[in-house]
Amino acid sequence: MKILVTGGLGFIGSSVVRQLVQSGDHEVVVLDAMTYAALPEAVESCVGTGRYRLEVGDIRDVERVRAVFESVKPDLVMHLAAESHVDRSIDGPGDFIQTNIVGTFNMLQAARAHLETLDAEARSRFRFHHISTDEVFGSLSLDAPGFTETTRYDPRSPYSASKAASDHLVRAWGETYGLPVVLSNCSNNYGPWQYPEKLIPLMIAKGRDRLKLPVYGKGANVRDWLHVEDHAEALILIAQRGQLGESYNVGGGAERTNLDVVHAICASLDERFPEAPPHRELISFVTDRPGHDFRYAIDYSRIERELGWRPKRTFTQGLADTVNWYLDNEAWWRGVLDRSGGGQRVGLGTAGNGKSAEGATA
Ligand code: NAD
Repeated sequence: MKILVTGGLGFIGSSVVRQLVQSGDHEVVVLDAMTYAALPEAVESCVGTGRYRLEVGDIRDVERVRAVFESVKPDLVMHLAAESHVDRSIDGPGDFIQTNIVGTFNMLQAARAHLETLDAEARSRFRFHHISTDEVFGSLSLDAPGFTETTRYDPRSPYSASKAASDHLVRAWGETYGLPVVLSNCSNNYGPWQYPEKLIPLMIAKGRDRLKLPVYGKGANVRDWLHVEDHAEALILIAQRGQLGESYNVGGGAERTNLDVVHAICASLDERFPEAPPHRELISFVTDRPGHDFRYAIDYSRIERELGWRPKRTFTQGLADTVNWYLDNEAWWRGVLDRSGGGQRVGLGTAGNGKSAEGATA
């Protein structure tokens, strides 16, 4: 299959691309604008295989998107390109509206035009998979059941509102124009190659430099965590076998408070640096993020029942492996922060002497 993956240089997209290319069954073309979040190193293993190609381009650019569809002629589109960081969406929502909503609109229109050019057989095979987040469902109380595919949308941040809008566009294009779409909404991902502004890599990086570990509020907010490689496996299944017009919730079955997560990271850091004072001493509670959703939890029984998927990795092992991966790849994340200017934003420098008053959450 010829698969067009938007945002394929990002954290989750690159995991999808590695799995698709390694399978040996597909030809993968990545469309990516190479924003600060792009991590070309994460797909280096795909370069030179003859099954991977990068098209640098912005989904906000209608003509560019159309031209890519015309040259690639994909059988399948996996649409992951997005602005993805909630804190950035609060500081500057404009890019989120443009990329997540207008960019998705451009992708849908280009997919429609592409569909028109296909013969009946190719048309019957074509699919458009839109990748979204559980944050569109809003916030849960501690004892509420997890989000299902029919939970009412209730986005509360500029990020989740822009993703919710894109989900609505995708469903509408399926209903109105008969575009063969499938959607998925996933909980928080963690694992190797995540840009070091998100909770887990940020805490590892700061802990490494013995900087304060800023935790919003009292750290009581609850997230469900899924290893990125498990998510990528689910996405590939959904893209190929999910029912058209439907959506699938994907989760890790691993609810943790942010403080639990930071404590676990500190424990792993203590193991690697037993001579250092306990890393927990670095935890510092900071003013909560505005509109901070209290809890996300996912009911992933549908994908388990219909597609036979469930997460393979436990959070305890996955997190310990992730801490070790970041410690073993320190030059990589310091380089990423340097070239993207992200170090200053999160209070980390290559010299490791930054200071941060900002909170951190996923
Ligand atoms: P990311 O921020 O790591 O990567 C996004 C990628 O998209 C980057 O490579 C970036 O260069 C590219 N991109 C951004 N704007 C673009 C544009 N205008 N045109 C083309 N490319 C552009 O994101 P991620 O964490 O890998 O998330 C991927 C998708 O999964 C997103 O749609 C996100 O909403 C969704 N999601 C993420 C999580 C999570 O925990 N990270 C959870 C559920 C769903």
